[in-house]
Amino acid sequence: MIQFQDGRYTIGGMPIHELVEQFDTPLYVYDAMIMERQFNRLKQAFSGCKTRINFACKALNTIRVMRHLHDLGACLDTVSIQEVWLGLKAGYAAHEIIYTPNCVSMEEIDLAVKEGVMINIDNISILEQFGVKYGNSVPICIRINPHVMAGGNINISTGHIDSKFGISIYQMRHVQRIVENTHLNVIGLHMHTGSDIVDVDIFLRAADILFEQAEGFPNLTFIDFGSGFKVPYKPDDYSTDIEELGSKLSERFKRFCDEYGRELELWFEPGKFLVSESGTFLVKVNVLKQTTSAMFAGVDSGLNHLIRPMLYNGYHHITNVSNPDGALRLYTVVGYICETDTFGWDRKLHEVREGDILAFSNAGAYGMTMSSNYNSRFRPAELFIKDGKAELIRKRESLDDILRNQLFE
Ligand SMILES: *Cc1c(COP(=O)(O)O)cnc(C)c1O
Repeated sequence: MIQFQDGRYTIGGMPIHELVEQFDTPLYVYDAMIMERQFNRLKQAFSGCKTRINFACKALNTIRVMRHLHDLGACLDTVSIQEVWLGLKAGYAAHEIIYTPNCVSMEEIDLAVKEGVMINIDNISILEQFGVKYGNSVPICIRINPHVMAGGNINISTGHIDSKFGISIYQMRHVQRIVENTHLNVIGLHMHTGSDIVDVDIFLRAADILFEQAEGFPNLTFIDFGSGFKVPYKPDDYSTDIEELGSKLSERFKRFCDEYGRELELWFEPGKFLVSESGTFLVKVNVLKQTTSAMFAGVDSGLNHLIRPMLYNGYHHITNVSNPDGALRLYTVVGYICETDTFGWDRKLHEVREGDILAFSNAGAYGMTMSSNYNSRFRPAELFIKDGKAELIRKRESLDDILRNQLFE
């Protein structure tokens, strides 16, 4: 998160220009304090319950960041065996990791069982195979699709009827049959309705559906409500009211536990909420290009480093941090990739000059983890700002990284 202090832009108290001078661009910068603030906000909002926060590391999987969240008290949400291995490497214990893949093979699930992490099963075929193979020897969680649509973007919503995620609530009779006949030990129920909770009441409706299903599973120790907490991307954007959600859901959860007859743990798995705002992506303006239609500012990055705008119309606020006193003018900010990679049309920026540094806000989540080597470009370096110190946590790539694994003479 960038701040304007004493006439200059800073991140975590450090002047952006000094960071760029030392580490160059393109550069991802993460502010540890903002992650801590977000983690504590969430913890606070649900303080009435036994709450466990699993950081969804697909949002940002750099080891140093995963460690920081572990230090704060987070557990881990993983969606692939590779993320499980990364989590173990980062210092999470197996019992602190939940594995929530979809459409993976039984072989991959076997590997996760071997590591001892919590297995979350999201389809009937695997549930049956798992039951036949492991019976009650390995406890599991079941991912349910409550068919409640959170948010408006169908590409990031996972609870709707056409979604590939989870086991439909309409298939619960079949689930029960498999559980009874293979003696599966179901200790958790899970839902993840998607990535944009706009309306707390819709989320609560999905929660109620999960509570109803819970009655059919007597061995539960936790219920996992996934994520989908929205953070503000535009200055006047709406965001999930965590405090309101916290007080309403906590109250219902406690009531549910009373009826269920036991105090369960309340689990979440936020990615975006914990790390999005902490991250800033810094790029340099290579050229200004006036065409017949617009004034383009072309930067030393593109969809290879930050693909959210092009992939699903994600918005990132852009600030020219090099010219705070410049007049406001309109620019269309584009990348250097040989594809149409527009970061933003007609953005109002302080007058941009070639060589200026632009900052993309809210770049902590799904920025670096979605980056690629397209056009044979190197992936950016990453910086971690904590206690007034800048720590390089990932080196900028070099040609060796592009050549690694290629076999030729
Ligand atoms: C992506 C994902 C999350 C995190 O979503 P955010 O919108 O980043 O909070 C949580 N759970 C599962 C299963 C996911 O796939």
